[in-house]
Amino acid sequence: MAEAPLLQAQDLARHYTVSRGLFKPPAVVKALNGVSFELAPRQTLAVVGESGCGKSTLARQLTLIESPSRGSLRLRGTDAAGADTATLKRLRHEVQMVFQNPFASLNPRKSIASTLAEPLVINTTLSAAERCERVQALAAKVGLRPEHLQRYPHMFSGGQRQRIAIARAMILNPGIVVADEPVSALDVSIQAQILNLFMDLQDELGTGYVFISHNLSVVEHVADQLMVMYLGSAVEMGDKRRIFAAPLHPYTRALMSATPALHASERRERIVIHGELPSPLNPPSGCAFHKRCPLATPRCAEEAPVLRPVDSRQVACHVV
Ligand code: SF4
Repeated sequence: MAEAPLLQAQDLARHYTVSRGLFKPPAVVKALNGVSFELAPRQTLAVVGESGCGKSTLARQLTLIESPSRGSLRLRGTDAAGADTATLKRLRHEVQMVFQNPFASLNPRKSIASTLAEPLVINTTLSAAERCERVQALAAKVGLRPEHLQRYPHMFSGGQRQRIAIARAMILNPGIVVADEPVSALDVSIQAQILNLFMDLQDELGTGYVFISHNLSVVEHVADQLMVMYLGSAVEMGDKRRIFAAPLHPYTRALMSATPALHASERRERIVIHGELPSPLNPPSGCAFHKRCPLATPRCAEEAPVLRPVDSRQVACHVV
């Protein structure tokens, strides 16, 4: 029997009202424009797209930093939108975040032991001895040695700091971790170690990951499901292997053609997308991708495509 989902997002949207000066009415920016997905235990959903596509806005909704403008978000079956303060506090333990820059996310004045123990002090009734035991056990799991616990963030390399940040995210045993570009600030030689650590912890603890990355090689390594986003909307989503084997949406195909392949048999013809991501303040009519799409037809400028099932995944495109 399939396990109950950890997270269910339904038509999740976040719009911001921005001022355009004294004499113009305010504009609405649709930073996230209605995405729906589920995340099961031990699953990784990777979210990819250019900067400005809505990935970080999605992360802020999932970590309950902001509330959605529309749609619903259920964490372990509980609706976060309608939750009272006590329930929201409990739900916030369920979803933790790992950031791109581990140095900025760690307090330089705190030892690693007190950084890791702090969430336990605030959120649990564990005794000092129990907290110490939990900190030591988790530090060992992420590959830190006992003597590291008395040191400070500046005494570690980038990879070790990310191990500490991962341990801090895991200390309350959350069901879900949202990782926002967690290896892009690290040396390539260290990236694989950190990705393997994520996967080992997932195997052991059953955590579900939402993995935000612009790096498709990283995504191919860690993801089970893939969601490709463009200007606030999902344009292709489904099983990672199927999408990597045969991307269907023109934008996914262009992104994948720009990723170097290890083996000659996997190399794709390079598809160059011209122009910049449009401003969400003034999005194009119809399909948001039509001004850059090599397959655009007159219909694309008039009618926005919706996600529909095609070849065991969902695609939003009129011509696929
Ligand atoms: Fe390209 Fe049209 Fe498909 Fe949009 S709907 S991706 S413009 S072919």
